[in-house]
Amino acid sequence: MTMQTTRWKPDTCGCTVEYTWDDTVPQETRTHQCKTVTRCPAHAHLDTLTSYDEVGKENKSKNQAIGLLVKEHPDLKPQDIKWQIKEDRSIEIELPASKKAHKDAMNTLAKDKFLKPVTFKDEAV
Ligand SMILES: [Zn+2]
Repeated sequence: MTMQTTRWKPDTCGCTVEYTWDDTVPQETRTHQCKTVTRCPAHAHLDTLTSYDEVGKENKSKNQAIGLLVKEHPDLKPQDIKWQIKEDRSIEIELPASKKAHKDAMNTLAKDKFLKPVTFKDEAV
């Protein structure tokens, strides 16, 4: 067993996360162990393990929400989709004007689906 350390900077906040994993375990069953979190202002009030958990949930929810949008609308590209994380750490995904009519449908699909609340809203102009 060889423990590897990975340093990760999520795109959902300013934290830097280090976690360890065992490279003898196949990727599908591998688990990550939190080593350290250098916390950003949004997560500074949390302890290491809680912030590790929250950062993971926020990043995963954002990625999954974009994945859901692209699955429903394959003409969209993930890198073109704008999103933001609000002060309450819920996630807003902007729908391009061409998808305006699908906003309610996307919000219905996204309801309670992710670890963090996700809202689809009209593109800011
Ligand atoms: Zn953070």
